Amino acid sequence: MKFVSLLCLVFIFLFASCSGKIEPRTQTAMDTLCTVNAFEDGTKKLYDEIFERLAQIEKEFSATLPDSEISRINSMAGISAVKTNEEVLNVLDFALKTAWISDGAFTPAAGPLVDLWGINTDHQKIPSQAQINNALELVDFGCVGLSRDSVFLRKAGMKINLGGIVKGFAADEVCKILKMHGVKKAVVDLGGNIYVYGKKSDGSKWTVGIKNPESPSSAPLLRLCINENSVVTSGSYERYFESNGKRYHHIFDPATGFPADSGIVSATVISPSSIAADALSTATFVLGVEKSFKLLDKFKKEFGSDISFVFVCKYGSVFASADLKGSLEFVQDDSRKIVFVP
Ligand code: ADP
Ligand code: MG
Repeated sequence: MKFVSLLCLVFIFLFASCSGKIEPRTQTAMDTLCTVNAFEDGTKKLYDEIFERLAQIEKEFSATLPDSEISRINSMAGISAVKTNEEVLNVLDFALKTAWISDGAFTPAAGPLVDLWGINTDHQKIPSQAQINNALELVDFGCVGLSRDSVFLRKAGMKINLGGIVKGFAADEVCKILKMHGVKKAVVDLGGNIYVYGKKSDGSKWTVGIKNPESPSSAPLLRLCINENSVVTSGSYERYFESNGKRYHHIFDPATGFPADSGIVSATVISPSSIAADALSTATFVLGVEKSFKLLDKFKKEFGSDISFVFVCKYGSVFASADLKGSLEFVQDDSRKIVFVP
């Protein structure tokens, strides 16, 4: 009997090593937990390549690593232009376009506010109004100058921070690697920035949960069934601190310098372009429901992209784009209705 089980084990081992398939990989990258599951096409080589790419993206785009491209650009603010690579220029260019189109609700120049509030760091605090006013002077995307090969921040003290867009960019880059290797299906989760890639074997749609902002660690609030797509959520429940019973979270309204309080507590954007979904989830979270409808219309016209949305608001109402009718429902049989917006 023992011999039979040993033989089975040997067979399983041989089979596993022949097919090369291994378990999905979870690792920290870009300051967050990332998981990639390429199912039957998952190999050590594939996962190594993906996580090396994520580490490289972090090294370029981090606002805290002193040698990153972003830190080099920030250190020369008000002094001189800094030569950088095409990848950084492209992401910055996209961030600036989103800034123009969202009237600055999304801004690549949010660095001074991010650093001042220090959410989730050892120096998080509610700043004084004078400090906020000083930071706001520097949150000025019109003073980010891009040329063919360099970036110049025109005011001393300005700081680029691409935390609101880089995971989306990274998810798109992971998909390029999956495509290059002929992977048939995969789920990419970069700290909640999701990409469902390819088709499931039984032909059914992918199911993605949208967290309950009131209770993010329990069952999801909504279930979304979709084909290949990226699903990105910005919420006030991920990174925050509380003082005198009030929550101060990590997405800032550049109009006030305070954590955004637009009425939206969770903004999900769905698009085949994860960089677009990431930028727009942050922008819509800042803008609130009404202004976001206009922003998304403008964005679709400008970029011709496929964009859907799900907004969960403060008192529990849920607004979603009409194209999600039949694909979006409450997980628990809920008497609440989703308002689908044409
Ligand atoms: P998360 O990173 O938690 O998934 P977001 O994509 O919305 O959420 O990005 C939030 C991050 O973006 C912040 O931690 C900060 O680095 C940066 N940020 C904060 N406010 C803004 C803003 N108004 N525009 C652009 N980036 C912002
Ligand atoms: Mg974002």
